[in-house]
Amino acid sequence: MVIVISEYVLKRNEQNGVSRVYYRGKNKLKCPECQTELVYRDSKTRTLRREGGQKEYLIIFRMRCPKCGKYHTVIPDCIQKNKHYASEIIQGVQEGIVTPDDEDSVDYPSITSMWRWKREREDHY
Ligand SMILES: [Zn+2]
Repeated sequence: MVIVISEYVLKRNEQNGVSRVYYRGKNKLKCPECQTELVYRDSKTRTLRREGGQKEYLIIFRMRCPKCGKYHTVIPDCIQKNKHYASEIIQGVQEGIVTPDDEDSVDYPSITSMWRWKREREDHY
């Protein structure tokens, strides 16, 4: 599952332009399914593409529930608010600009969802 957080800080590394997300909430993050306190698992870099091909890199992290074993990706709500990122990328897939071979789409979007988007577009004709 995805946990959206609103209490966080973004620390930007000026040398490589990568921002890292740090959770700053008062309460510990809990599993949405069983309310157990989550433990840190790992992090990964996510690419956000702006208009004109400008890219931003954001390091987000994953938590694991010690009780039910599920993984939860924690994302800052600024990604949610900037919905234009997602819609731009969806558009790019439909135009054939973003392909699964694209270096920036290693983990996002997945091949399966790309096929789904293509089908949705074809349905509109
Ligand atoms: Zn759990």
